[in-house]
Amino acid sequence: MFFASDNSGPIPAQVLQALTEANTGYAMGYGADAEMEQVTTRIREIFEAPDAAVYLVATGTAANSLALATLCKPFETIFCTPTAHIHEDECNAPEFYTGGAKLTLVPGAPGFDDKMTPEALRATIAKEETRGVHGPQRGPVSLTQVTERGTIYSLAELQALSAVTREFGLPLHMDGARFTNALVALDCTPAEMTWKAGVNAVSFGGTKNGLMGVEAVIFFDPKHAWEFELRRKRGGHLFSKHRYLSAQMLAYLTDDLWLTNARAANANCATLTAGLHQKGAPFLHDPQANMIFAALPRATHQRLYDNGASYHLWDGPLEGNPDELVAARFVCDWAISRDQIDQFLNLI
Ligand SMILES: *Cc1c(COP(=O)(O)O)cnc(C)c1O
Repeated sequence: MFFASDNSGPIPAQVLQALTEANTGYAMGYGADAEMEQVTTRIREIFEAPDAAVYLVATGTAANSLALATLCKPFETIFCTPTAHIHEDECNAPEFYTGGAKLTLVPGAPGFDDKMTPEALRATIAKEETRGVHGPQRGPVSLTQVTERGTIYSLAELQALSAVTREFGLPLHMDGARFTNALVALDCTPAEMTWKAGVNAVSFGGTKNGLMGVEAVIFFDPKHAWEFELRRKRGGHLFSKHRYLSAQMLAYLTDDLWLTNARAANANCATLTAGLHQKGAPFLHDPQANMIFAALPRATHQRLYDNGASYHLWDGPLEGNPDELVAARFVCDWAISRDQIDQFLNLI
């Protein structure tokens, strides 16, 4: 009953098989492997972007930080929500890799701070770059799809935000650690959710959706390619035995494994959501992908933990009045079984 995160499950047999197959003979290092050429071709096809620059790194923090560093000068600032992974969960890696750029927070939805609105984004951008040489200059906007709160920007919302970034001539980055969970939920094409909606660069997640540890960075304008390559090498993220990264990503994009996994994760989340609704648990919002924020009484949390369930409490400690409701975050991955979900709901 593991709902702590979607990075805790196993990897699919196909990925392990692909690694075994890649594990024969010799291949050039540093991304010059034949598999990487196939990855690039495949991602360009999937995104309908024949000129896109495509790179692999092993963590989402590296993908975000190196992509943003390429789009941002040290004296600029990156616009993001207060709950953004780049703000809360990357130990200042974006600031580090940009050489000291700062983050400017755009308020999100009241109480939840998940999604920025065009109005809030415009107002926040307008307030920066007003102090001449003394203040930060405006830099890229970074949004997260699926958001850190399990919600999704619609295509119309993405287009409205990118219209604001274009007003100011700023690049738009998408943290897509859960890119595919959003894609299948919106039932749109990768192009529609990115460059057709005005997104310039994407951190295309793999790890949370079944890979051992690979994320792609995609720039739709290849002018960023060489700078990104230099930054990746300088930042210690150019893998020497690169074919093992390529092999994972290639398996992910073969036979729709990426889509199948994301659909499974979202379906598991829908099952858990329905069950929690049936038990009368109040939700903090409507789950849209594979992440739930809902409250249960402390005594129920205790019983679940005592029986081996794993997840994070959100707004309070386990200790206290047993009848009091405490919110928790439940994340479903592609691999969690129906049995585990049923067992969890039966305990509630
Ligand atoms: C998990 C996650 C990442 C990547 O995190 P790493 O631990 O560095 O791989 C990036 N953004 C979001 C929104 C995430 O949830």
